[in-house]
Amino acid sequence: MSRRERPYLFYSATRALCSTCLEVVDAKELIEDGKVFLWKRCMKHGVQRVLLSDDVDYFRLCREVYLKKPEQPDHYNTGVNYGCPYDCGICPDHEQHGCVSVLEITDNCNLRCPTCFAHSGPDRSTHRSLATIESMLDLIVRNEGEPDVVQVSGGEPTMHPHFFEVLDACRRRPIHHLMVNTNGIRIAREDGFAERLASYEPGFEIYLQLDGVDDVAHQVLRGAKLFEIKSRALARLEALNLSTTLVVTLRRDLNEDSIGAIIDFARSYRCVRGVTFQPVYDEGRNEGFDPAVHRLTLSEVRRRIYEQSPTFTPADIIPVPCHPDSVAMAYAVRGAGDDFARLSPLTRYMPADVLIEGGRNTIIYEGDPALLENMRARIYETFSTAHGPEGASKALGELMCCLPRIETLPDLSYDRVFRVIIMQFLDRHSMDLRSVRKTCVHIAHRDGKRMIPFDTYNLLYREPEQQEQLVTLRARARP
Ligand code: SF4
Ligand code: SF4
Repeated sequence: MSRRERPYLFYSATRALCSTCLEVVDAKELIEDGKVFLWKRCMKHGVQRVLLSDDVDYFRLCREVYLKKPEQPDHYNTGVNYGCPYDCGICPDHEQHGCVSVLEITDNCNLRCPTCFAHSGPDRSTHRSLATIESMLDLIVRNEGEPDVVQVSGGEPTMHPHFFEVLDACRRRPIHHLMVNTNGIRIAREDGFAERLASYEPGFEIYLQLDGVDDVAHQVLRGAKLFEIKSRALARLEALNLSTTLVVTLRRDLNEDSIGAIIDFARSYRCVRGVTFQPVYDEGRNEGFDPAVHRLTLSEVRRRIYEQSPTFTPADIIPVPCHPDSVAMAYAVRGAGDDFARLSPLTRYMPADVLIEGGRNTIIYEGDPALLENMRARIYETFSTAHGPEGASKALGELMCCLPRIETLPDLSYDRVFRVIIMQFLDRHSMDLRSVRKTCVHIAHRDGKRMIPFDTYNLLYREPEQQEQLVTLRARARP
């Protein structure tokens, strides 16, 4: 007699959130038809099945190879009272320090995008006071010591009436790399604005929202034809060679086929240090989004990158060890001089064991001398074989995954680096309580007391009504 079989491989058991009521539920990870699904059962809302990955080999690489001992923050800010994700944070059960610390300084924005996890817009006029911002910055420094990256965000941070005083307050602290997360409108429209931003270099970068190389995706995601204004902002940044990362929100059936064109567009600007692709994260305002139709996973974005941009191969887009499920990276070096648009990928020369055993488990690799030495040797080899004796003298001063630090070396400065990042946040559909513990993007709460993982902040901790719901969820978790 043959036994009945289920049509999948049972990979593991985990805990997740019901997409409807946000209560913690039991879940399984299942492999079926070359895909990985999160299967969860809520006693009230039934079974839910969510696609996690369409690339089983890559999924297993993240889960079984790119493992490192978790590096911790200097402080925990909350105790363990109700269980994850109701104790944020950072509570002692979290498994990664904040590689990126986000400082939100306003709810106001000069756009009202149909897709905005922060619910921002012209109708919201609340700005954090400078005193509150100082306490949020102190919190970041208390947790991180010398924060690798602080990202000033909002809302639209440039709308804060004391925006440059906020940048000054950041500069008074030991922050290695400071970024401004912006839609670029003030840069495009106001003479002298980009120049004033450039005065914060080095260790300063613009994180510029751009959803395509025409108006189609901007109209849907941002509610306006913005490509011309983004181009004007970029022209000003290019004139100053002010380090810029382009940040692209991707939605299935909208701009997933524009990835190659966006990379080509990005490489044509000398000031652009790379592109970060973010599949739509279904929290906050997300008009017209149907999770059954529009969700995109990290593995799907990864495949589209190497299909649409043949410069990169699968071997170039690798998991980032601090949070491999959610972050992938590819590094390339730009050509010298007028040849700056030519990209030579490097990541394929970084064996997993070098990254994993290299020492420091952080988003910034330059702090690890052993890893750096190894990479120098590899890059020396690469250039000596591929680009002749002139290239053989090149050395890479530092390598980072998600976000950069600037160090000028005699013959390979930061403006030769070009990186492609995929950053996938966990929303109510994909929230896996195993994975969320490794989130390394932490938001400073305005109370100046808590650093909260980006993924859970937008789900449970941002708005007053979410905090009311959290009280109920906590009561159910620990009656
Ligand atoms: S997400 Fe992290 S900080 Fe929040 S409750 Fe879970 S383990 Fe703690
Ligand atoms: S997504 Fe950014 S630009 Fe759009 S409304 Fe929100 S804060 Fe403003």
